Amino acid sequence: MNINKYAEVLRGNLKLNGLELYEAIVQNREIGDKCELHNFDISLKQGKTISEKWQCSNCGTVVDYREKRMYELGLNHGRTK
Ligand SMILES: [Zn+2]
Repeated sequence: MNINKYAEVLRGNLKLNGLELYEAIVQNREIGDKCELHNFDISLKQGKTISEKWQCSNCGTVVDYREKRMYELGLNHGRTK
């Protein structure tokens, strides 16, 4: 798994200033774009809201609950139609 600074911020292991946080979020997206198949099975922050965060065990990218749900729905729909 790639080292993802955004995930470390969410775990409370890393503090970043505003620009550094922006760069970490961009890095997070770039990591996710290269993944062949996400598997969002690592919960970083619970809540069933936009604040809930999940990490892909394949690539390390982090998404919120809505992104995870839409990705998984898309996979399911793609498999059945
Ligand atoms: Zn992934």
